[in-house]
Amino acid sequence: MSIAEWLAKKAHIDIEPDKLDIPGDLQTKCLACGEVLFRKMLIENQKVCPHCNYHFRLTCSERLAFTTDADTFKEFNQNLESTNFLKFKDTQPYSQRIEQAQKRSGIKDAIITGIAEINGHKNVISIMDFGFMGGSMGSVVGEKFSLAVETAIKKKLPLISMSNSGGARMQEGIISLMQMAKTSAAIKQLADAGLFYISVLLDPTTGGTTASFAMLGDVHLSEPNALIGFAGKRVIEQTIRQKLPKYFQRAEFVQQHGMIDKIVHRHELKLTLGRLLEYAE
Ligand SMILES: [Zn+2]
Repeated sequence: MSIAEWLAKKAHIDIEPDKLDIPGDLQTKCLACGEVLFRKMLIENQKVCPHCNYHFRLTCSERLAFTTDADTFKEFNQNLESTNFLKFKDTQPYSQRIEQAQKRSGIKDAIITGIAEINGHKNVISIMDFGFMGGSMGSVVGEKFSLAVETAIKKKLPLISMSNSGGARMQEGIISLMQMAKTSAAIKQLADAGLFYISVLLDPTTGGTTASFAMLGDVHLSEPNALIGFAGKRVIEQTIRQKLPKYFQRAEFVQQHGMIDKIVHRHELKLTLGRLLEYAE
């Protein structure tokens, strides 16, 4: 099955045409350079703008289709979902927000986990989806990630994590912050078992996710221009009363400061992951 066919069947193509003011479903506009793009062509190009190389955000399904070998992904714990245990309500109850996000995204929470193959190399993989409540890390993300690590240890498989997250999920209060400790402890167990862990940081990876499992990889990869940081630029500027560089917290800046090993173009990501997995065998 080709990628285009797979996507037509499974993926949720979400380029938000309404916001871009382009009629119809055939075309969209590059969010970076403004060029009009045919959707079909854009998907075939793995949602990378052919004019300026802008990497559009992907859903979990798209990420799977572009990164793993066809029909190899076996998901686990797909039915775990959050409850509104704090009875949290802002402009609407948290339970309602979850329901809407589930309907829109087709997944139960902001992460999917499972076993897959990449260029023939078996691994446990976790993929976050920014489209689900900003990829926020609550109890379910922490639990599913930790269970994925446990499976990797049990099956002696390497782990690939693809983070795409705005940080902790405020609707779950302190429980969401506890996920930082929980996932970090899980990664320590993976390291103690001598297993390889590749962390891929996608646009954006910030807050509690950066402050835990996303930054604990043996190897850190990123896509070009991804926003990677803990607190936002404006908050830091206000705190230290200094102007920060224009590209502060972008992948290229973060790499120059030693926190990322390699920035990989989306077209090269599968190949790079496959090679790294091969070295680890
Ligand atoms: Zn562009």
